[in-house]
Amino acid sequence: MENNLKIGIIGAGIQGVCSALFLQKKGFQVTLFDRDEPGNAASYGNAGHFSPYASVSLNRTDILTDVPSMLLSSRGPLALKWNYVPKMIPWFARFIMNCGKEKMMHTAKYMHQILDQSLPAFDELFDEIDLEGLVENNGILYVWTNKSKKSRELEIKIRDELGVKQQLVNAKEIHDLEPNIKPFYDNGVFYDYARHARNPKKILVKLFENFVKKGGKFLKLNIQNIDFDETKPVLRSETQRFIFDKLLIACGAFSKKLTDKLHEDIPLDTERGYHVHFKDCDHLISRPVVYADRGFGMTPMEQGLRVVGTVEFGGLQNPLSKSRIKNLILNAKDMVDGLPDHKDEWLGFRPSLPDFLPVIGPSKNYKNVFYSFGHHHLGWTLGAISGKIISKMINNENTNMDLQPYSSIRFS
Ligand SMILES: Cc1cc2nc3c(=O)[nH]c(=O)nc-3n(C[C@H](O)[C@H](O)[C@H](O)COP(=O)(O)OP(=O)(O)OC[C@H]3O[C@@H](n4cnc5c(N)ncnc54)[C@H](O)[C@@H]3O)c2cc1C
Repeated sequence: MENNLKIGIIGAGIQGVCSALFLQKKGFQVTLFDRDEPGNAASYGNAGHFSPYASVSLNRTDILTDVPSMLLSSRGPLALKWNYVPKMIPWFARFIMNCGKEKMMHTAKYMHQILDQSLPAFDELFDEIDLEGLVENNGILYVWTNKSKKSRELEIKIRDELGVKQQLVNAKEIHDLEPNIKPFYDNGVFYDYARHARNPKKILVKLFENFVKKGGKFLKLNIQNIDFDETKPVLRSETQRFIFDKLLIACGAFSKKLTDKLHEDIPLDTERGYHVHFKDCDHLISRPVVYADRGFGMTPMEQGLRVVGTVEFGGLQNPLSKSRIKNLILNAKDMVDGLPDHKDEWLGFRPSLPDFLPVIGPSKNYKNVFYSFGHHHLGWTLGAISGKIISKMINNENTNMDLQPYSSIRFS
């Protein structure tokens, strides 16, 4: 398909790369920019879950009562960098406003709308590459104790209402699925159709290489500013300028720096998350297992057992917190016996908006600028479907979806 329009994309994480591939399918000439090699930010270190069921987000009716005990517990999922709290107050205020029942259900409904199409959208991209066993189809298992029963019941009820397929499992069934997990749990839920990545970065690089093979361009540059030649966006690095017909900003948690320059105040911030690896321990489990009470999980990966989780509010500049690494190590040891010393302490930045819906769509002020960021805990799962939606928007096609809830205009 021929299409002479030139598209620039800033950000070569999973959002940027998938968008590039779908735009290419429509014949656009696409140039990807990243200040780093592709896939080295959040898309590198995540838990690798492809989780189409995960429609219930953090903005929920039970969260505010749970926050104090979560913050006080050294094994809990939540932490703050106190020096950043004053900067985050406006975000927290908006978040609290989104925790009522109606807003919670709004988020769940519109997360479900895109999550439900996330796996088929990936298959369209995976059909063109050799995955070499990097995606496994063994499902994803969540376990919990009766201490967090009320919260789990709320999630189960909402997913039922949305028609999400979920298989509740008792302690015996959990043991049958994962015999090496210590029997601390009371109940769980198993999503047999969910998948996981054995190495997210390698998958992203394979997608990226396909983009380049099909004629896509990549420039390793930090884009510092955007201005306009009439209505055409002009990207500026320190020494160069590039003009495009249309532009997509897909810089994950770093997108706000650029959207501020486009005179749009989008309340994007970050939930910092961590991982460590236990080398040669991936054989201990057959699929990702999440300990829901403590908000972390373990994924069997090429690097070993990847232990991933925690939500830390602390912005993009603060250093890694050793206490969060310790939290993951102790939590993992509570789950399985015989773990060796850990490797690879990693901190990454989830791009999160206070209503826990992503921004996918045109910018408020410039008709040739589009956004795809803010996919919080689910940006890996939502890479392909967001890219597919954006490619249709840019190509002026109908998507047969209600896309208004993802518009950045909701914050103005
Ligand atoms: C601990 C953790 C666990 C997670 N687990 C899962 C999971 O299991 N499943 C799931 O679905 N999601 C998960 N996520 C969320 C998911 O990883 C992210 O939502 C997703 O990777 C975001 O992708 P992105 O492409 O928007 O951003 P990123 O991957 O962060 O990429 C943004 C890119 O933009 C580039 N960039 C930024 N600014 C500029 C600039 N000015 N010029 C040039 N380049 C620029 C950066 O270098 C970077 O490469 C997890 C996240 C974390 C942190």
